[in-house]
Amino acid sequence: MRKAALALALALAATAVPAAPVTGPDPAAEDTLLASITRRAYDDPEAMLAELNRRWPTHAGPGQPREPAWLLARGRVLLAAGQAEAADAVAARLMGREDGVDRGWLLRALIQERAGKPAGGLATRALSGLDKHCPAGDEARALRELGCDFRSTWEALRLLLREQTGQGVVVEAEATARRALALARAGEDRYLIAMSLGNLALVLQAQDHVDAARAELRAAEVEAQGHLTAAGRVRNFQAVVERRAGDLGAARSALEAALVLAEQADAPHFAAVTRSNLVDAYMHLGLPKEALAAGQKALPVLQRFRDKAFERNLHHNLAVAHIKLHQFDAARQELAKVGEIGVDPSELVPRARQLRELGDTWAEAGQYKEALAAFHDERGLNALANERNRASALEELRRKYDSAAKQRDLELLARDGQLKDQQLENQRLAQKVGVAVGVLLLLSIALIGVTLLRMRRAQARLTANQSLLRAQSERDPLTDLSNRRHFLAVMDQRTREAPADAFHGALMMIDIDHFKNVNDWHGHAAGDAVIVEVGRRIRAAVRDTDLVVRWGGEEFLVFAAEMQAHDLGQMADRILRSVGGEDVETPEGPLRVTASIGFASFPLGGAAATGAPALRLHWEQAVNWADMVLYKAKAEGRNRGVGITAVEAPDADTLASILQDFDAACLNGQVRLTVLLGPS
Ligand code: GH3
Ligand code: MG
Ligand code: MG
Repeated sequence: MRKAALALALALAATAVPAAPVTGPDPAAEDTLLASITRRAYDDPEAMLAELNRRWPTHAGPGQPREPAWLLARGRVLLAAGQAEAADAVAARLMGREDGVDRGWLLRALIQERAGKPAGGLATRALSGLDKHCPAGDEARALRELGCDFRSTWEALRLLLREQTGQGVVVEAEATARRALALARAGEDRYLIAMSLGNLALVLQAQDHVDAARAELRAAEVEAQGHLTAAGRVRNFQAVVERRAGDLGAARSALEAALVLAEQADAPHFAAVTRSNLVDAYMHLGLPKEALAAGQKALPVLQRFRDKAFERNLHHNLAVAHIKLHQFDAARQELAKVGEIGVDPSELVPRARQLRELGDTWAEAGQYKEALAAFHDERGLNALANERNRASALEELRRKYDSAAKQRDLELLARDGQLKDQQLENQRLAQKVGVAVGVLLLLSIALIGVTLLRMRRAQARLTANQSLLRAQSERDPLTDLSNRRHFLAVMDQRTREAPADAFHGALMMIDIDHFKNVNDWHGHAAGDAVIVEVGRRIRAAVRDTDLVVRWGGEEFLVFAAEMQAHDLGQMADRILRSVGGEDVETPEGPLRVTASIGFASFPLGGAAATGAPALRLHWEQAVNWADMVLYKAKAEGRNRGVGITAVEAPDADTLASILQDFDAACLNGQVRLTVLLGPS
């Protein structure tokens, strides 16, 4: 077995690195060699450092044109060996050369990443220079003619992508992932193509496009064929996608397959990273002991490679496993280690996910104080991430409309020009043939009439097409309800019509209870059927004029522009009863489903008795309030609606501070709530 692994490793080495030394300065062949050394350094840095020194050619000596490429490779290999300071010295040397500055920034970004710190800013700096040689859109030509260093550019894009996913700005992230893929394809580097497809799959999954994500992963598998660690990494991507899609069994098998590949490739670092991902899968499959065993095997290796980012993840996962085993002190120790490494502020979304998981686990173990603290932290991060994501979707919408409007203006202008030419022509004719003036005049009037008629028809078609397109992009394909983008457009429209007005109307946030169980126990198809039916029941329980939005996975938002507080309570009650009152039919048989609801009517008023003034809010803040009471309904046991009856805050600052510590504000009477129970 050991022998076979060694033979395989040797075979791999032979294919990855040409045995004969590079003689002439063929930059492309050299870059491929350097890429192979850098990749293998991830698991065997010392050997690769020696290899690099042994092969260092004279044409890459100090001041020579090929020096930056070799220096960058050395920096990355040093970094893989955990020698961050030596790598930084190499970065300084790169920065000292005009043609090395961009790669210097890139190396610094990679150093930050290894330390578990934000790297997006430095990567953007590197990109601003690298971009000049690799303009987006025409990658193949850039590689042939502009001397594009596609691998460095790819690496910088990867770091940027990590930050964008971390911040939850999915629209930008998808564009970055697609650009990285185009570069890898132009460079015909199958390893990078496979990694790009994997990254793209994650971005698609983040937008709930599960099938599209799986299709990209299948393509990645094909590209990774014959390369053990590439195939293993693709399995890791697959595990993330399956885990988020709720198929824990598939996630586990993918990771176990990745581990076999890592061991065949004799890749200890990659094996440790895979094990650290396995900890999470085992934990969620209810195997905390297996999780601990895998984690304890991975930890010393990650420490040896000074891989802080993964070490931090692992400590978190170990903490969760300890809580599940009711080993609370050990859990607190692991959490303290997460704190020691420090949190990367650019990783909002993954961190929020972790806090949510931590809170759930503490709560399951009956440790409510710690659970609440984790939930509070999570709320804060989620609010921030949602805001950024909303801003990014809005920006995309605006760009789309702007360009459509511009196109229309251009067409009108062109038609106008044609019309004017025609008139001039007519005038000339009229001068030449004086007698026919009257007749020609009549003719040209008719011509203008026809042209105008045509113009009006074309304009009508254009408007119709545009609104059709718009209607399609604002509909959720699964439930046929409006999607979040539509809601943003409606809010945007209201803001444009009355910029000074505060948000008014009623909001209701609805989330299906324990929905993950439906996916886990009955499969994704049953989950989809439940989402569709719950959406239908909500639609049927509200008025035609109310807006029902699929807000995200199994979350719905109802917006009623004109509604009395009393009617709002009744509406929540109707929804609770219609969702929870009767089983939902699914391909797996009938299932009982309940939902939790948070609702409020805006502007938030003071109690009528105190005569306090109404409080003005922006619609995004209003959504946060509805979200907050939904959270309350969840925390108090689910299958219920919680609504805001009164808020006493003299000014906007007090209002904001209430949201900061909502539970305290409920306790001291600043906020008064009403609770409606669902059918038992
Ligand atoms: P809670 O009562 O706290 O709301 O628990 P929950 O399990 O409902 O909450 P959570 O938000 O953790 O789980 C939502 C799950 O919904 C996670 C995700 O995999 C799944 N999901 C999201 N979109 C879809 C979808 O379109 N179809 C299916 N089948 N599942 C989805
Ligand atoms: Mg839910
Ligand atoms: Mg949810």
